[in-house]
Amino acid sequence: MHRFFIEQKLKKGMKINLPSDVSRQIFFVLRMKRGEMITLFDGSDQDFLSEITEIKKGVCVAKTIDARQNKNELGRKIILFQSIIKKDKMEWIVEKCTEIGVSEIVPVIASRSVKTGLNQARLAKIAKEAAEQSGRATVPIIRPIMPFASALSLAVDNCKKILFLHAKADKLITPTRLRTDVLGLFVGPEGGWSGEEADVAAKAGFAVVSLGNRVLRAETAAIAASYFASREDLDS
Ligand code: SAM
Repeated sequence: MHRFFIEQKLKKGMKINLPSDVSRQIFFVLRMKRGEMITLFDGSDQDFLSEITEIKKGVCVAKTIDARQNKNELGRKIILFQSIIKKDKMEWIVEKCTEIGVSEIVPVIASRSVKTGLNQARLAKIAKEAAEQSGRATVPIIRPIMPFASALSLAVDNCKKILFLHAKADKLITPTRLRTDVLGLFVGPEGGWSGEEADVAAKAGFAVVSLGNRVLRAETAAIAASYFASREDLDS
């Protein structure tokens, strides 16, 4: 069943004029007809089984028929602090980490970041589509770009544990290090973290950890660390 995220708060039995991008997709791309069913979600823990009641070029109306609990969100909130890397790799990270269950992605300008800009709206669209496709109840927040120092403060204020992924770290990532309800993950750029950034992170109390002996591409590290962090079953 096709799923669509709607900004509007939903409840059972209501009629909704679907946003124009959703209406266009239903009409022109999916070629759906009146009476067909879709699932709408609004960022709460409910999925709304909905019937298309009106459909014409660019305008669709749906009625929510039934509400079902969506149990696909992780219990743990994972905030990925990702140093900005090449556009296509950054987009790939947003898509895959959304599928894995990450709650927020914070693009960080590290001292070795080659790129320092990105299209936040495009990343938000990729996150929304990945959330729709993967059956999530919420769409991850894509934060505005921030320098390393601001990301560090944001992490300290919001995360209960923070893992600083570093290819040169002596300690391995372990299930014990994940045991918290709000976990921050820091992943460096193509050229890696500077020694100074790693020192600042360690002094701030972050756990500087490795994913193993091989040096991974930044995007591989982001996905591997996020997936490991999503394994709440390892907690027990
Ligand atoms: N030569 C760089 C270095 O030694 O840091 C390699 C950087 S790697 C391409 C980019 C980022 O991916 C790193 O900054 C780190 O966050 C993460 N990463 C790559 N391999 C890793 C590993 N084995 N353990 C932990 N993090 C890793």
